[in-house]
Amino acid sequence: ELAQRMSERAVDVVKFFMKQGQMMKPGDIIDADTAELVATEFGHTVKRVAESDIEEGLFNIADNPEDLVSRPPVVTIMGHVDHGKTSLLDAIRHANVQSGEAGGITQHIGAYQVEKDGQKITFIDTPGHAAFTAMRARGAQATDIAILVVAADDSVMPQTVESINHAKAAGVPMIVAINKVDKPAANAQKVRTELLQHEVFVETMGGETLDVEVSAKTGQGIDKLLEAILLQSEILDLKSNPDRTAEGVVIEAQLDKGRGPVATVLVQTGTLMPGDILVAGNEWGRVRALVDDHGVHVQEAPPAMPVEILGLQGTPHAGDRFAVVNNEARAREITEYRQRIAHDKAVARSAGQRGSLEQMMSQLQNSGLKEFPLVIKGDVQGSIEAVVAALDKLGTDEVRARIVHAGAGGITESDVSLAETSGAAMIGFNVRANPQARAAAAAAGVEIRYYNIIYNLVDDVKAAMSGLLSPER
Ligand code: GDP
Repeated sequence: ELAQRMSERAVDVVKFFMKQGQMMKPGDIIDADTAELVATEFGHTVKRVAESDIEEGLFNIADNPEDLVSRPPVVTIMGHVDHGKTSLLDAIRHANVQSGEAGGITQHIGAYQVEKDGQKITFIDTPGHAAFTAMRARGAQATDIAILVVAADDSVMPQTVESINHAKAAGVPMIVAINKVDKPAANAQKVRTELLQHEVFVETMGGETLDVEVSAKTGQGIDKLLEAILLQSEILDLKSNPDRTAEGVVIEAQLDKGRGPVATVLVQTGTLMPGDILVAGNEWGRVRALVDDHGVHVQEAPPAMPVEILGLQGTPHAGDRFAVVNNEARAREITEYRQRIAHDKAVARSAGQRGSLEQMMSQLQNSGLKEFPLVIKGDVQGSIEAVVAALDKLGTDEVRARIVHAGAGGITESDVSLAETSGAAMIGFNVRANPQARAAAAAAGVEIRYYNIIYNLVDDVKAAMSGLLSPER
């Protein structure tokens, strides 16, 4: 590749190395210093390109405040299993499909938009915090508002708490939807009280978090929930510039047998149009068609609109960010660079270069942070409480453990991605990780530590934390 870039013959480069006493063949990897030396020897002028230069200007082109206009909010529904996330998403969608509407039946493309009082709201169609966190792990913040669904007959459960912690970690405001109020066993007040223990103070109890009683089954309260979303969105004052090249995030992507790679993207700023050339994660393509959540081909997708795009060369990942670029050459340059970086990272990870407690510690030390973030899973609530209490005691004025999340049950993929996004250590107390979580941890370079004796766990964390203390003490 070096030879090619210098427009020299590969054999001449190999010969040069031979003269230096090094046996090299095309495809062997040399470091930047060596490459610079070789290029200089061949009489070329070297300009080192920093990693950031290649992607320069790709994202976050600054907008003038006067170009910003209001955009719809993007909402994710989270909560415990069986509390009615899917039912609620369906109820909202169906309440909104007017008969005779273009396309009629909605298509599942990963996100959909509804209208309330002439204002649009975008819902991410994959319920739960797993998808939410997977996106954050890729650096994308797609959600403006999280709906926390709690079944009124079951109240706060472990995944309710997980969802709260995920939303808090992401700094996304919540709206509590107390669901299943049609059931005789429903006790909405119990839900509100139990939420207090997790520092969610709902409005009806004098707090700031909006809460709405709903039934996904009867449709009761759905309208109110949509109103609450619009109210929250007004408070957030969400704005973006529709008159520029589009940027956003990939919600879903798959390889379709007939249509090739298909990705659902959420436009976050700018307007996406057919013919645009875009880069999404490690892939690129020219938009051949845009299809909305009714299966209708559209000519443009403004901010907060989810659309399927056809025409990509490969399949990006959910959570990848995308941006429109000027031309194909630039798209190729960026994606080739990214593919190379991804490859290098994978190599580095397989060599186990990241993720140990010690390494994390030194990273934290460099960042000057005096908190030690932890995600803890344990066998039973009692043992978790004991672990958390013991860790709390370790805290000093200078450094303390910050429990991003602690919950009962085995370590899942979503725990791993929460640990990854929060830069936290992942700890299992008397529990193991499931295979998906292990695979995710390996891919993300997150080390999972297992303990069955509290003393050992606390001791390790203590050792790691003492490394965070200022050296002069
Ligand atoms: P998810 O796991 O959170 O997505 O929950 P689902 O939407 O699959 O709902 C779980 C179960 O609760 C299903 O059997 C639903 O029919 C039922 N369900 C959901 N919402 C309501 C509701 O408002 N009232 C009643 N009675 N049942 C509901």
